[in-house]
Amino acid sequence: MSSFTETILSWYDANARDLPWRRTHDPYAIWLSEIILQQTRIAQGRAYWERFMAAFPRVEALAAASEDEVLRLWQGLGYYSRARNLHAAAKQIAALGRFPDTPEGIRALKGVGDYTAAAIGSIAFGLPVAVVDGNVYRVLARHFGVETPVGSTAARKEFTALAQSLLPPGRPGDFNQGMMDFGAMQCTPASPACLLCPLAPTCAALASGTVDRLPVMQKAAAVQTRRFDYIYLRWQGRTAIRRRGPGDIWQGLYEPIVFDRGTLPPDPLGRFAPTAPETESSTGPVCAPEPRPQLLNAGVRHQLTHRTLLVDFYLWEPAAEPVLPEGYFWIEEPELDRYAKPRLFELLLAALTNPA
Ligand code: SF4
Repeated sequence: MSSFTETILSWYDANARDLPWRRTHDPYAIWLSEIILQQTRIAQGRAYWERFMAAFPRVEALAAASEDEVLRLWQGLGYYSRARNLHAAAKQIAALGRFPDTPEGIRALKGVGDYTAAAIGSIAFGLPVAVVDGNVYRVLARHFGVETPVGSTAARKEFTALAQSLLPPGRPGDFNQGMMDFGAMQCTPASPACLLCPLAPTCAALASGTVDRLPVMQKAAAVQTRRFDYIYLRWQGRTAIRRRGPGDIWQGLYEPIVFDRGTLPPDPLGRFAPTAPETESSTGPVCAPEPRPQLLNAGVRHQLTHRTLLVDFYLWEPAAEPVLPEGYFWIEEPELDRYAKPRLFELLLAALTNPA
């Protein structure tokens, strides 16, 4: 075993974070934690993991749940395709009758990529497969002085081979978790604790003064901006929502009336064009035949991985029952709680009681 590996294992023995999914060998509990933590910080993910384990203590219960139930429990975590994949994978596991225990079997589960398969396989079953995530890239790049830009296919191959060569027989799960914790707690992106680092005597980046420069990152893809109008329609104590279809963000979640300014005509309801609230003119207030949508909040910014959403929130209380666009249906306002909603819809509801 290399001295690097020994150091990581002793560091992990002394510093491992105490997390509930580390106190079990149940592959379902471990898989659930890995899916939740794919794009989520541990502090936030832990509460969701506990919520899911309480609602669905076994994979069969998750498989038997409705998609709406799963999405509602997931609400607030974002990246909703993860929740749909989680649900689909639970059905796959339930159909198999047991959790798959080979790298190929785990990798075949919906929503499980190389990283997650390696994490589950090594932690739950002791399979000798190294994980490579952002933390692992950073620790390896710095300690071994690797300059290959992270994000390229070449880097993935090179770092995976390096991590694999360091994997100790017998404790692959502890080594993988040790690497991730070490990157998150010791060799952090900014201000790593080099002075107190047990790897300092052999660290190439420390010796060459390149800690701040490593790992080298490949240029990120350009972020696209999309503009939307979100309209809360209120008519006789009811509101209108629709379920989002496949092929775009937030599939399966419910949303209010939305104008996507990039793809829809300006007035799909045929009743109004959302504008800023009416202002006093020199001849007095402008009179409209129909109450106009009231602007609650303009330019709300919502960041997704490769997209920035800029959204204006409106409340529209028409005098007569409007004809709803295709796909929308009426619900009583108190029923809204029963529907899984993206974060933006939650913000619209908050703006209703507390406009900017
Ligand atoms: S010495 Fe600094 S850069 Fe090198 S592994 Fe330790 S914390 Fe990371």
